[in-house]
Formats: sequence, structure tokens, C-alpha cells
Amino acid sequence: MFDSTFRAGATAAVIATLWALGVAFVSAQAPTPTVPSLLIRNVTLVDGNGGTPRSGVNVLLREGLVASVTSAATEEAALTLDGRGLFLLPGLTDAHVHLSGMSWTERTAQLKRVLQGGVTMVYDVASDLRNTSDLARAALVGEIESPTILYAALFAGPAFFTDPRVVATSRGYRPGDAPWNREIAPGTDLVRAVAEARGAGATSIKLYAALDAATVRRIGEEATRQDVRLIAHSTVFPARPSDLVAAGVKYLAHAAYLAWEGSPPTPDFPRRARGDFAGVPADGPVMTRLLQSMKDNDVALNPTLWIFAEGPGKDDLASLRTPWMFAVTKRAQEMGVTLAAGVDSLTAPGDPLPMIHKELEVMVAGAGLTPLQVITAATRGAAHALGVDDQRGTVAPGKVADLLLVGADPTVNIRATRLIRHVIKAGRIVHSAAPR
Ligand SMILES: [Zn+2]
Repeated sequence: MFDSTFRAGATAAVIATLWALGVAFVSAQAPTPTVPSLLIRNVTLVDGNGGTPRSGVNVLLREGLVASVTSAATEEAALTLDGRGLFLLPGLTDAHVHLSGMSWTERTAQLKRVLQGGVTMVYDVASDLRNTSDLARAALVGEIESPTILYAALFAGPAFFTDPRVVATSRGYRPGDAPWNREIAPGTDLVRAVAEARGAGATSIKLYAALDAATVRRIGEEATRQDVRLIAHSTVFPARPSDLVAAGVKYLAHAAYLAWEGSPPTPDFPRRARGDFAGVPADGPVMTRLLQSMKDNDVALNPTLWIFAEGPGKDDLASLRTPWMFAVTKRAQEMGVTLAAGVDSLTAPGDPLPMIHKELEVMVAGAGLTPLQVITAATRGAAHALGVDDQRGTVAPGKVADLLLVGADPTVNIRATRLIRHVIKAGRIVHSAAPR
């Protein structure tokens, strides 16, 4: 232990030195291009905080950040954008994506299209992180046009590691040994497992399947100690949703899986979308207690409604599951649980825009949320669930200038998020489209 600590410290010192030299070298050779300041005049602002839109607003962007949000038109900037008739909102986040399974060329083309479709941040919740981390790096330094990419490593019990998806995203390792796809068995060294997940670049760990409550609790303690954010499927079998809340998880994926809080236990994790929806009413005491504890412990819900209601997750149980997950999502909103919009399918054939627009429409038309509530779920709510709302998800001074301008009021009709006029990434206009 002493030896590895010493080595880690020495390595960090060497990296710090190289980094300092590297920065000096780069800045001498090629100064980082600065983004010209941009003033968006006279726009109607939907700031991501959930309040009603404000018209006649001027938003100044400088050095990639929002510098000011005012009603006065006194600011000067290198560039000006006339915002009359336009609605400005934070760029959208898709808080549930998977970036494995495509070639680099296909994936970077998709990410560019997704950015142009109004999505400025995505959260990869299980993939081959060698691939995802390189995409994230390329996006960060401007090699590709892409949303900002955050990502999680996956932990699961031994039963999960025959799944073909985990085998495909662990090539070169025995399934379960890859730092980003880690099997957690009774003898697993959790200190090392969490440290290696961090080493793979993940800022969070996703608990996926086949873990019991005691193991989930031990992972939670170690993740807290190493300052790694913990997220999970809404059930991981045999651990229930409330076991995940108790372990310190900050984001639960898939509203439908919450039914396992009251469904008869099964060790069979592939059945996770087949809870006892008739026996566990969405407005009954079991779900009320669970949602209240999510609210009290600041645990966000990522509902993924479209994929089960209309997408590839729709099956013979959909007629029971769909109204249940709509009702539980609505109830979560009413009880003050943070909602984080995310699709689990970044794009789909036949829709030129990223699927987050469809998800927002289903959250309104199916679950009965207001357009303003679902915009908040795709902006501030998602940023909060990912732990980055101090920098992203709202339009306010000091926040990263990732913005979307649309041609009609999305708080009246959510389909207006599709009427994209400009997309701004870190203060730079990266896409503009004519009105339609
Ligand atoms: Zn997923």
C-alpha cells in the first residue's frame, strides 16, 4: 500500500511538471484561439431554472462563458445576433447515451449532427471507455464538433458478465476485468476497482445489475471516499431502489424499474423491465415512500419514457408498464424529485434530430408534464443529476455558454425545440439554420 501510494505521488509530480512544460510549449507555438465576444440582443430567455420566459433580454457571451444577462442594451461585443422573435435556452443534455458500437467516422458524424440538433452535453452510462474517453478528449480540444461528453464506468455482479454487450465493450480483457466494465464479486478489492474506474477517466460509476444491498453499500462507501459519483439502474437485483438510495446513488435510470421497490423479488436481472406494475400502484404508499426518499437524498430520476413506450423497449407488457412509468414520472415531478431527461438511444432512423426532442414530447404528451418542466429536465435537472450544474444547464453569468436558439416558444409547444435557428457551443455559433 505504501509502495503504490508513493508511486502514485511520484507519478503525479512528474505529470504536473510535464503538463506545465507542455502548456508553455503549446502557448509559445500556437496561442489558443479566443472566441470573439457575442451579444444576443432582444431575445426571449428560457433560462433553465423553470421560470416563465423573459422577453427583451440581452445576453453577452465572452471567453466561452455567459458574461451578463440584462434588460439594458448597453453592452458591446465583437459580434451581435438579433434575437427578436427567437427563444434562447440552455443547450439540451441527453443524460443517457451509449457511445460504443459504431466506427469512429460514423460516431463523430452522429455527434456533429446531434450537436447541430441542439444537444450540447451527453452522458455515456456504459460503453468501451477507451473509445468514449477519446471522443470526449477530441470534443474538448475541438478536434471534432460534438456535445461535451461525460461518462461512467460500469460495476455489476458476476452474473452480468456473459452479456454480449459487456463482452463487446471489454475486448482485450477477460469480461469483468476491464477497469470500466468491472465484475464485483465477494472478494473484489473495491479500493482498487474504484481507483481503476477513475483511472479510466470516469467521474462516475454506474451500478448495473446483479448486486445485493450489502455490496451496493460497500461500493457506495468507497466511491464516496474516492469522490466518485455513483449512479445506477433503478434496480440492480437483488438490491432494491431504496437500497441504492441508501448507498448514496445520485441518479436512477429507467422509471419503469422503480416498480421493484414493491415487486416480489427475483434473482433474474434480465426481467428488470417486468415488474409487478398492477401490484405496486404508482401513487401507492410504497412508491410514495421511495420518491420521498429520493427527494430527501437528492437522487435524480432519468425516466427514459420513449424507449419503453414507443421505442425498442416496447414489448408485450407495454400496456401495463407505459401508463405506470408515466404516472410515476409525473408523481416524481410533483414531489420535487429532480428529473434528468435522457433517451438511451441518441438518434433513431427516420428522425433527423436527436431523440431527446422525442423524449421531451413523450414526457409532455404521455406523462403529462408541462413543457417548462421537461425543458428544465433536459437542462438544469440533467446538469444537476450529473453534478455539473455549477457550470452548466442554465443561462446565467459565469455558466458555460452552451445555448440553443429556437424560432417559437417551447414553453407553449414543446415541439418548438425542433425549430432550431442557432446552436452555440462554448460561446461560438456552431450551427445556424433558416426559419421553417
Ligand atoms: Zn442505457
